[in-house]
Amino acid sequence: MLVVLFDPDTLLHQTVELLGSKLIPALESPKRLEAILKSLRISEHDVCTIRASSGDRGEGKARLFRVISESHHNGYLEHLRDVHDEWVSAGLIEQDGHVMPECFWLPTSTGKPMRPPRDPFARAGYYAFDMSSGIMSESYQAIIASANLAYEGTDMLSGFSVNASGSDVDTVLALCRPPGHHCDGRRAGGYCYINNAALAASTWRASHSDAQIGILDIDFHHGNGTQEIFYADPKVLYVSIHGEDEFPYYTGAEDECGIGAGEGANINFPLKVGSSVEEYMEKLEQALQHLLDFKPEFLIVSLGFDTYHSDPLGHFQIHTEDYATIAETIRRKLKDVPALILLEGGYVIEHLGANVLSFLKGWKSV
Ligand SMILES: [Zn+2]
Repeated sequence: MLVVLFDPDTLLHQTVELLGSKLIPALESPKRLEAILKSLRISEHDVCTIRASSGDRGEGKARLFRVISESHHNGYLEHLRDVHDEWVSAGLIEQDGHVMPECFWLPTSTGKPMRPPRDPFARAGYYAFDMSSGIMSESYQAIIASANLAYEGTDMLSGFSVNASGSDVDTVLALCRPPGHHCDGRRAGGYCYINNAALAASTWRASHSDAQIGILDIDFHHGNGTQEIFYADPKVLYVSIHGEDEFPYYTGAEDECGIGAGEGANINFPLKVGSSVEEYMEKLEQALQHLLDFKPEFLIVSLGFDTYHSDPLGHFQIHTEDYATIAETIRRKLKDVPALILLEGGYVIEHLGANVLSFLKGWKSV
């Protein structure tokens, strides 16, 4: 059975970004999720609503923060929580303003460790790597709601959750927003603030300590954050198919294979922008073979629809009906593995709902 999870608080985050030379409303907007929800409801898919902010889940919340902090620095998490208020108190912005970084931390030859600056204005650039990760008054609430969907979804699949009712749930689609795969645990960027895949892996490991976990990243962009977090981890196989030389620009090459004990557990398939669906499927078959050989007991799919042929942030020649084929191919190959599907990117709002439905149709056909 497939369950779709949603938290209304994920709609609260609505910020701005610097794209090209213009400050614009971020393309990663609540409208994306509203379009998906509309399509799911028309097609009579059940959407299960979960609220991270509901007052009666003290222990669950404490556990959520414990698993988040396994892959995210405490100083960074405090920054996400506090920086908007600090900027308002310091008179840097009004309550309805957005925190945007000015100057980023860069590696130096001084040998000095990374250290957050005391000035909250400067700190915005220490905890971000680009200018598409603005923070507004309700961003933190949405970030936690998004993370909580990954956490609850993993719990459902692992049988840990009291909600799971000993269930036959084998797939959860978590309608996460903001997305996660660009966050490396101490820097926001690419619309991502908490790496939902990483916290899902931590959640799974809490009840399956030595588990092999597979992550298939099929967003158009390389998941630099997920790669970074698991780069030395032999128990997590990260496999990504993404646009070559595209955002986030400095990662995603074929020769990034993992390090130390994790060598061989990181596999990148860069593909030229505009590649055909046939070229894409060829890479997907190879990616799935690696995952199959790895024998994961838990599968995380970072699912982005910015692979769509007319996406403004990069594309392959993938059309709506192709998502059914992609999903069916994945599920057929990894049939009996509990799967958490995390929403990442996808910015053609008028086709986003149809693309999600197509993917679900293919997934459920197996
Ligand atoms: Zn993307």
